[in-house]
Amino acid sequence: MPVNVTDFIELVHTEAENTSQRWQERANCLGVDPDLFFPERGASTREAKAVCKGCEVRFECLEYALAHGEKFGIWGGLSERERRRVRRQRALERRARAVG
Ligand code: SF4
Repeated sequence: MPVNVTDFIELVHTEAENTSQRWQERANCLGVDPDLFFPERGASTREAKAVCKGCEVRFECLEYALAHGEKFGIWGGLSERERRRVRRQRALERRARAVG
């Protein structure tokens, strides 16, 4: 099921209780309009990425999104397309290590 704005709010605002690292508590986007992180197709992602740029848990957020296969929204400062690129790159590296 795709993550929507409600899921995102729930994750960032309440799931912190359930995670050992509690990175969500330090998220720069706490209190920021979640719609910003789920722009309509073709809309600008610049504002969301600007929030992420100064976020101290950017790495944790990105890894969370990659690990959970989040297909929508800006996570860790990366768009869906950029995350797909990271996943592809990592898959290629894994394959190269397995062969080499
Ligand atoms: S990287 Fe961006 S989306 Fe992730 S927690 Fe930080 S501000 Fe929020």
